[in-house]
Amino acid sequence: MKIICVGRNYAAHAAELNNAIPEEPVLFLKPDSALIPKGHPFLYPEHTKSLHYEVELVLRIKRVGKHILPQFAYKYYDSVGIGIDFTARDTQQRCKEKGLPWEKAKAFDLSAPLGQHFIPLAELSQPEAIDFSLRKNGKMVQKGNSRDMIFGFDDLIAHISTYFTLKMGDLIFTGTPSGVGPAERGDLLEAYIGGKKLLSLRIK
Ligand code: ZN
Repeated sequence: MKIICVGRNYAAHAAELNNAIPEEPVLFLKPDSALIPKGHPFLYPEHTKSLHYEVELVLRIKRVGKHILPQFAYKYYDSVGIGIDFTARDTQQRCKEKGLPWEKAKAFDLSAPLGQHFIPLAELSQPEAIDFSLRKNGKMVQKGNSRDMIFGFDDLIAHISTYFTLKMGDLIFTGTPSGVGPAERGDLLEAYIGGKKLLSLRIK
């Protein structure tokens, strides 16, 4: 399986990192080693001094598809989860300055913790306006709503499948709202969809 991530998909987040609003989705990949094996602790990576959290809604692909049209994209997912796109912000800044790829900053081991389960869209009262949030040590640090995405779920799937065949089990991290910031050893990160806590992560 593969993890496809979308950068700069919320205008307020693009602005907080001094990035322009993209004209087409910004994509990057993480390998499956970015997932956290069940029961494995999250260890602060040795290679960075600026680990940032980015809470994101995550789609899980349920059938194979390529060149998917936006109007048929809904057939390829039926639930939504939550995850954190951990970013080594210092490394990313160096990569950006030199015009280099982002993998060292974004795709390292354990950089894609995922919530325990996915919520069927059919169970949501407003599947087109999904509230999600992240708390750090009990305090809300990020709050987003899927209606504020620059590119919605269906447009993302259409665009992604132009380049990458989507397969069952692939994950799409759909972008982070504003409020990204540093996480330190000892911090507790908790991610929610609506009022439901789906991810709880202690940084060791
Ligand atoms: Zn992200």
